[in-house]
Amino acid sequence: MTHSPDGLSLIDLLARNGEQASLHERAARATRQTFGDEVFVREVVELSNFCRENCHYCGMRRSDRALERYRATSDQLAELLLNHLPESVTDINLQAGEDPVAVREVAIPLIKLLRSETELGISVCLGTLNDALYSELKEAGASIYILKFETGNMGNYEMFEAPGTFPERIEHIRRLAADGWNVSSGFICGLPNEGPEDWLNSMRLAKSLPLSGCSVSPFVPGELTPLAGSGGADIDVVLNAMAMMRLMRPDWVIPAVSALNICQPGLGYRRGLRTGANLVTMNMTPAEFRGNYVLYKRDRFIMDEERILKSIEAEGLRPSRVGLADFWQSRRKAAVLT
Ligand code: SAM
Repeated sequence: MTHSPDGLSLIDLLARNGEQASLHERAARATRQTFGDEVFVREVVELSNFCRENCHYCGMRRSDRALERYRATSDQLAELLLNHLPESVTDINLQAGEDPVAVREVAIPLIKLLRSETELGISVCLGTLNDALYSELKEAGASIYILKFETGNMGNYEMFEAPGTFPERIEHIRRLAADGWNVSSGFICGLPNEGPEDWLNSMRLAKSLPLSGCSVSPFVPGELTPLAGSGGADIDVVLNAMAMMRLMRPDWVIPAVSALNICQPGLGYRRGLRTGANLVTMNMTPAEFRGNYVLYKRDRFIMDEERILKSIEAEGLRPSRVGLADFWQSRRKAAVLT
């Protein structure tokens, strides 16, 4: 195994023991140099589990006819977000299956209200939409779009029936960035039929895109999906990929995803914070809907306020008082002035 000229090597991706510890320490140091000991705290609300896509890895795929579908109302979510938001939260993320009705009827009115009543930064993760909906979301007040490319392997993207087509997904990421969104993307590490070379290629693809942040999510086989019988991700490889991504782009915002705790209960999430992550997400989806927002299984591991704050504190970190959207906006202004 050799180190490659772009610095992304199999040696690092597969590192264990002392080499792994040294990789993770370098990544943690790079994060602290850029972001200090502060992590961004975002709240996610999962507003609909209707989905027109059929991704083989996802428990909300349209072919799962047994799943009870829900769509929250903007009033219901407004009550929650305006009156019960934890103090440490600076940003919210509205996430859903690919459901344009939820975008029009829930997300857009809710964003308008939050924009007029709060200072919250607003991210959306609502799938591949048309230009008119992207514009309406932006005009309403959202500024961060999360659109994961899922895998850098185009053949697998098609085989897993990931949203639309691979070239379309990449084109939308580029277009959103060109239209002034801060775009965060990501890939699933550990998908069946993929290996370390694929994950290195996914990192190379991420590097080539106009992103402000990127996630590495461990593949967790979804109970009722065609991939239910496959093995899950190796958490050490996922953490190594996160560390490598941090070293590749010290300026990116990299989330610690809650699935890290599915891979290694109690510790996975904290290890993510030690390997370069600087964004945590609390889940505030109304309890009545949570069980049906199934990426993997109905019995979900929910990262609530208490778990998140404890994890941050245990790692010697603290919640950022500056919100993510504001942080990116000030970076943009600084870039224009220089
Ligand atoms: N529908 C929107 C989209 O396609 O961008 C956003 C929501 S989608 C339900 C959220 C993300 O969950 C996907 O982008 C995918 O990366 C992740 N995901 C779904 N199933 C997964 C699994 N089994 N393991 C890991 N990540 C998964």
